[in-house]
Amino acid sequence: MSISYGAEGQGESTGNKEVTVIDMRSDTLTTPTKEMRVAMAYAEVGDDVYGEDPTVNALEKSAAALVGKNAALFVPSGTMGNQIAILTHTNRGDEVIVDAGSHIAIFEVGSACMFAGVQLAPVPDLMAGETAEKIKNAFRVPNIHYPTSRLVCLENTFNRGGGTVMLPEEMETAADAAKELGLRVHLDGARIFNAAVASGRDVKEFTCHCDSVQFCLSKGLSAPVGSILAGEKEFIEKARKYRKALGGGMRQAGVLAAAGLMALKMTDQLKEDHANAKILAAGFSRIKGLKVDLEKVQTNMVFLDTTGLTLDGAGFAEALEREGVRSIPVGAQSIRFVLHKEVSQEDVLEAVRRAEKIVTDKYR
Ligand SMILES: *Cc1c(COP(=O)(O)O)cnc(C)c1O
Repeated sequence: MSISYGAEGQGESTGNKEVTVIDMRSDTLTTPTKEMRVAMAYAEVGDDVYGEDPTVNALEKSAAALVGKNAALFVPSGTMGNQIAILTHTNRGDEVIVDAGSHIAIFEVGSACMFAGVQLAPVPDLMAGETAEKIKNAFRVPNIHYPTSRLVCLENTFNRGGGTVMLPEEMETAADAAKELGLRVHLDGARIFNAAVASGRDVKEFTCHCDSVQFCLSKGLSAPVGSILAGEKEFIEKARKYRKALGGGMRQAGVLAAAGLMALKMTDQLKEDHANAKILAAGFSRIKGLKVDLEKVQTNMVFLDTTGLTLDGAGFAEALEREGVRSIPVGAQSIRFVLHKEVSQEDVLEAVRRAEKIVTDKYR
């Protein structure tokens, strides 16, 4: 990231030097490429609520084909995509099986309850192996006292797990177990292309096991706004109505979809992000006092364990921030770094140097 600021007042260690900010808080920080901006400026548009925006229609068609579904819907955010999926799959009072640490359970403002009126069944470590068994255990047998189990939501890559990949075979086993119980399966695939690229598999090998999938255009794929919800035609028709109900019916949205169409071709960038994540992780783990579980560095995320330091995760994140390295503390002794196109390999090496300087100076 190339933003510079005068470091005056940013902390004693930087003095008055110019410090380049290396911002690894999230891959949502990616900005549109020049080509995207040009495409946005000249996008052919119409009123998408009338189904008349050719660029949105083209994006929905391409996105559906890419994930092997026969229809798709362009939505303003991943949260809305997930919530529309839940609304479309369920009835009020149903139960939805999710990982207790999933985005849907933790980071969507309780909206599954707020809008779909469903109850979440949060399963600890649902995504951490033996998913089929855990689904079977969470399933509610018919009983007058119980809510009806209706839907399972998987998340791939799994954010809280470290940006880890659930392989197509594991997804198949999990989805088969769900289907056997009569459950529908939604994939929160905000970063499903990271999973595909990291494992060298086609994205369809993941999505074919799910009734619906949501993926983000606005993260590593670098579009400014938007997500895709894909599924079968009938499902998407119903979903389109829920999108309107939630206020997600946009008009000349082709301006955004033009960038989305280019985002679908940005998957090579993800390979670079993954390589940079490995370099960052290796660099951190060579510093005495810092630990990274390298096995979990499978995509564009690095979770740094600070238990070997004399200050906690938040404290170390602050110390890094004073040196222009931005991250997010996600636990008492854990900090998350997300790699994306605005962070170069040179930035990564520089971030490691700054981390080393801080640790060596003070906190070990
Ligand atoms: C980012 C993200 C979403 C959607 O986020 P929005 O900010 O609403 O676009 C959903 N699931 C996961 C796992 C995510 O990381």
